[in-house]
Amino acid sequence: MSSSFEQPYIEFKHRPTYAEVCLNSLRYNLGQIQGFVGGAKVMAVVKANGYGHGFEAVSKALQTAGVHSFGVAYIEEAVELRTLGITAPILVFGGLLKEQLDLYIKHDIEVTASSVTKMEQIDEAAARLGRRARVQLKVDTGLERIGVHYYSAPSLFDAALKAKHCDVVGVYSHFADVRKEDLTLTKLQLERFQECLRYFEARATAPFMRHIAASGGLMALKESHLDMVRPGLSLYGVYPSPGLAATLPLKPVLSLKSQVVYFKVVKKGAGVSYGHTWIAPEDTRVVTVPIGYGDGFLRRLSGSSDVLIRNTRHPIVGAICMDQLMVNVGQGVAYNGDEVVLFGQQGNQRISVEEVAQASGMSPYEILVTLNQRIPRVFLG
Ligand SMILES: *Cc1c(COP(=O)(O)O)cnc(C)c1O
Repeated sequence: MSSSFEQPYIEFKHRPTYAEVCLNSLRYNLGQIQGFVGGAKVMAVVKANGYGHGFEAVSKALQTAGVHSFGVAYIEEAVELRTLGITAPILVFGGLLKEQLDLYIKHDIEVTASSVTKMEQIDEAAARLGRRARVQLKVDTGLERIGVHYYSAPSLFDAALKAKHCDVVGVYSHFADVRKEDLTLTKLQLERFQECLRYFEARATAPFMRHIAASGGLMALKESHLDMVRPGLSLYGVYPSPGLAATLPLKPVLSLKSQVVYFKVVKKGAGVSYGHTWIAPEDTRVVTVPIGYGDGFLRRLSGSSDVLIRNTRHPIVGAICMDQLMVNVGQGVAYNGDEVVLFGQQGNQRISVEEVAQASGMSPYEILVTLNQRIPRVFLG
């Protein structure tokens, strides 16, 4: 196993806090998803720094593992992928401003066309540059984010068919709610999408990819796989909602680790951390760990998150500070230098991002992407 560091914004040589990113688990999850969706292609979603896992290492590992294409939110992320040497197709999901079109076309990035006006702007920009633009048409089937409404989609399709300098390489949509317990809206969205597809299929002159499912959709509803799926969270081994965990075995890619840097005994009745939101109910051993909301380990996680020290679970107590947090080890044993696991495995104990998400009311997505550049990423595999 090899390991390498992605440079954080300043160089940490002795920072005990780091995120361990297991690229073997990432490849395993890709394989699991590929197996699960059969013949459908996989577009790996790597927006927001690869969901906090590290943009470069994650994207390169996925390209080498043979993923079909990449999805990102912003054009800057797409250009960065090209700069890093990613040659696979890249689709930008986000809304488009016409000033950005030269960048798209020059870097051969697939543009999301979400209205007739935008379709015309894309065609004009391609004509002006003397290049062809690769376009994916976005249909809104119920999220009300971006995309032409499903009931107006023929107008966008007609505009795309008229565009002389564009290749329509895909038509896609996005689900609004994919809890396994209630698939009513998901099925309705899929129906609306399929009706739109029938219109375009009857008129299109070249093959194109049809896709609607991200992690939740692909796990909850097999019929949604179509030509391609767009997993983000599940690639990183995390389930979007608890009901989906049984559908497909995945391995968490990220572990968050630190070390004990201070040990003390807090007397019964003494308050711990800012605001004294936690008062020691008895004389108790408390350790300090050098991670806080300045690293993206948000204050909302106090009171709902445990950590592992010496293969034992202990609760975080008091407010999480910017750079430090306190852990109540009770009458347990802990020494300076002991490993602290905030997410991941220690001995036979594990703390999952999903469990902390549930307890804190945050989504697993938020917990991962808020872990910021102050935390060095260490890549395994
Ligand atoms: C973020 C995103 C995805 C990936 O979603 P996950 O739930 O992380 O799998 C797929 N498609 C679009 C359009 C997205 O914005």
